Amino acid sequence: MMNCKQATHLMSEDLDRPLRWRERMALRFHLMMCGGCRNFRQQIAFLRAAMRMRSGGN
Ligand SMILES: [Zn+2]
Repeated sequence: MMNCKQATHLMSEDLDRPLRWRERMALRFHLMMCGGCRNFRQQIAFLRAAMRMRSGGN
């Protein structure tokens, strides 16, 4: 079972590279039980969208 440190690490890795299937499954499982990491993931998703807008997509 992965801990919060590993989960947040994986979530930030996910910004740089595609996660492996196993990592994704472990992360999803952790997120089901951990509200703190779900919040963190939402923040990261927001940051990521903001970064995309900045880099001038479209
Ligand atoms: Zn957690």
